[in-house]
Amino acid sequence: MAADSLNPIIFDEWKTPKKILIILAHPDDPEFFMGGTIDHWTRCGHHVSYLLLTKGERGVSAEYPDSEALKEIRFHEQADAAHTLGVTEIDYMDHPDGYLEVNLKNRQLLVAEIRRRQPDIVVSCDPQTLIHHFYLNHPDHRAAGQLAVDAVFPAAGNPAFFAEQLKEGLSVTKIEEVWLSLTNDPNIVLDVSAYWETRLEALRKHVSQIGDPDEFVRKWTARRNELSGDRYNEQFRRIFLRVS
Ligand SMILES: [Zn+2]
Repeated sequence: MAADSLNPIIFDEWKTPKKILIILAHPDDPEFFMGGTIDHWTRCGHHVSYLLLTKGERGVSAEYPDSEALKEIRFHEQADAAHTLGVTEIDYMDHPDGYLEVNLKNRQLLVAEIRRRQPDIVVSCDPQTLIHHFYLNHPDHRAAGQLAVDAVFPAAGNPAFFAEQLKEGLSVTKIEEVWLSLTNDPNIVLDVSAYWETRLEALRKHVSQIGDPDEFVRKWTARRNELSGDRYNEQFRRIFLRVS
């Protein structure tokens, strides 16, 4: 379904507070992919937390050439950015940035993290997106999306998968929905225009990644205006899981 054919909506379907777990590859992915939506959800009273699969140490540049030091810098930038959107719970798995692999071991580790947190909603990115608009998608983004989707279904909710985790005290999950950002096949478009400014404010915290923050804001505002005037939308592939 082309995004153009979907009407942007103000999303208010969830009437009770949801526990939302965002699983993505890098610090800054949540704010870039869905910062407006995150701000909207936290302001509605939902509990949002991040689980980032790498620490982003390969996001080096001339100003930030030391990848070990960069981990620490990005840790603080991510905390500040998330805080701007009402998120205070951020965990990292420390897989190698740039080399994130889809394999059984990594799926097993992620299933344990999901079972530990018991989310209602899991949010990630579409693993099928090789090219997004005019850009190649980062392989870590695709890998993070694939790991998240495979961990959610059928593993996390099924006691026959990684049964040793249950013996260690974890429980199977009852995830209701999966939302995938960065998709070429959206089925829901959220009008999050009201959260444009806070999303930009959050993105400005990622100083090591965006260069001059004022120039960054100018460029992104110009791009939004070109795409959608003064409106700002974020789009997802929304998937319902059968809850037994
Ligand atoms: Zn990324």
